[in-house]
Amino acid sequence: MSLMARDVAVGYRRGTPVLTGVSLAVEPGEVVGLAGPSGCGKSTLARVLALLLPPWSGGVVIDDEPVRRARHRVPRELRVAVGVVFQSPRRSVDPRFTLADVIAEPLRAGGRSTAAARPDVERLATRVDLTADLLDRRPHEVSDGQLQRACLARALAAEPRYLVCDEMTSMLDASTSAALVGVVNEEVAERRMGVLAVSHDPDLLDVWARRVITL
Ligand code: ADP
Repeated sequence: MSLMARDVAVGYRRGTPVLTGVSLAVEPGEVVGLAGPSGCGKSTLARVLALLLPPWSGGVVIDDEPVRRARHRVPRELRVAVGVVFQSPRRSVDPRFTLADVIAEPLRAGGRSTAAARPDVERLATRVDLTADLLDRRPHEVSDGQLQRACLARALAAEPRYLVCDEMTSMLDASTSAALVGVVNEEVAERRMGVLAVSHDPDLLDVWARRVITL
């Protein structure tokens, strides 16, 4: 069982790969760090593992099931197996949405109405320490930290087996960073979620990750 990149080559411009021959695996219940200097391809590999960027060759395997795309789309049951949180919450949400809408996105994509999703949205908000009064606000009415809490709640809404955190705390103050890492670690401990923690910060990975892979 693992979230695995197998011999991945990928890039953005034909003939200029960013990564070649990259393999790594994250097992259930572990936090693996992904380190390396700026521009080395950490985010690119994170996008591949989050099933957002199709590799040129090689592939992603989730719990022994190779990810295959039908008409360019990954089947939903595999897509929800991997959650992702990015560095910039503002670039990760629709500015017209309320925070409740943001958190409800995966639940609505799974077929639930906004009203039916609301109890779970409130439960998830509590989990990331967002107070109920913030749920009806829009992104421009909350702080980066509050918005990132909503993005983490959204990523956890579908109970992903794996979570890719791409510089999740880089824009946040120390106490919000520690709080979000704490929430992720609870999911690791309670239901053996596997985590790939991408960071340029060796100090963070030192305390957070069980092992660190340097690109
Ligand atoms: P890191 O996360 O380690 O800083 P990235 O994966 O963001 O590295 O970037 C790796 C390389 O890919 C860099 O040379 C970067 O300029 C390039 N790159 C990243 N994203 C894109 C994109 N959307 N289009 C074109 N090139 C990109």
